[in-house]
Amino acid sequence: MTDVTGLAEAVRGGDRRALARAITLIESRRADHRADAVRLIEQLTPAGHNALRIGLSGTPGVGKSTFIEAFGMMLTGQGLRVAVLAVDPSSARSGGSILGDKTRMERLARDPNAFIRPSPSGAALGGVARRTREAAAVVAAAGFDVVLIETVGVGQSETMVADMVDLFVLLIAPAGGDELQGVKRGIMEIADIILVNKADGELRDQAIRTCADYAGALRLLRHRPEDPPGYPKAAVVSALDETGLEAAWADITALAEWRKSEGYFAQRRADQNRHWFEEEVRHGLIRRLEEDPATRAALETLGAEVVDGTRAPGAAAEELLQRLETGA
Ligand code: GDP
Repeated sequence: MTDVTGLAEAVRGGDRRALARAITLIESRRADHRADAVRLIEQLTPAGHNALRIGLSGTPGVGKSTFIEAFGMMLTGQGLRVAVLAVDPSSARSGGSILGDKTRMERLARDPNAFIRPSPSGAALGGVARRTREAAAVVAAAGFDVVLIETVGVGQSETMVADMVDLFVLLIAPAGGDELQGVKRGIMEIADIILVNKADGELRDQAIRTCADYAGALRLLRHRPEDPPGYPKAAVVSALDETGLEAAWADITALAEWRKSEGYFAQRRADQNRHWFEEEVRHGLIRRLEEDPATRAALETLGAEVVDGTRAPGAAAEELLQRLETGA
């Protein structure tokens, strides 16, 4: 049994080992750990309301770790405390992780004002995302000012991360104009700021052209009420040369401030809380059903009938649900 109150106090006091332990507890799949984790998070919220949560996505090789390290160092240099978390779909499958490699972000990892945590591994992306959202709440309660949540640009994980952050940054590489279509429209729609990285050396001109292409594409998107004039916006950066980072931070804070003053910031958090509440209920219901022996047996027999073609999937599902309702 964990001393939840003691752990919560240590986390609030900024004890890094306690923070790491708290996140391990959240990631555990043991039922007793889960109960402790739920109590812990309850004790820690609504502390940490002032942390700005930023989603960051981009395909492998675009420069995410280089950017996060440079950007993170710039922020800690300003006296801010920065936490980096990740939602990595590949960790759900393989147990590996985009942040698992110890050589990534070495400088930032040594910075006392930074905290880096690899993606939790899990059976499914949904589980990884749910636990990362809770980890974000815990690091916020530990007094971090900025929580960066990184994900790989491969689809569903972006949407999940967008649902747990205040704003979303998409990192892309310089490319020919015809590659613009390569970025999925859905990702464009959740991006608040697009940063074309590697705007240095021979790639600089190409990066500037790519940025103009994206700026044009963003102007064609439907205007969202939660965007001030000029947003979503595109800009160039070089994570390697560490240029454009301060401007990117200025764009991020200007957007956050505007949304705060217009009420969209609080509204988004409220909507997210509602969303994750429903997600947890849905997930918990399914898990309970799967753990119930009678339901498991019915899943087996009806499933076998569906497999051998004697029952249609819809009819079998309907029967199972009927049985649940009547308790048969
Ligand atoms: P990730 O897979 O998105 O995390 O990308 P990395 O940060 O590992 O970077 C992939 C490669 O791009 C590495 O060889 C980096 O050195 C290089 N890279 C990252 N940022 C820049 C940049 O701003 N300019 C240039 N020229 N190369 C960069």
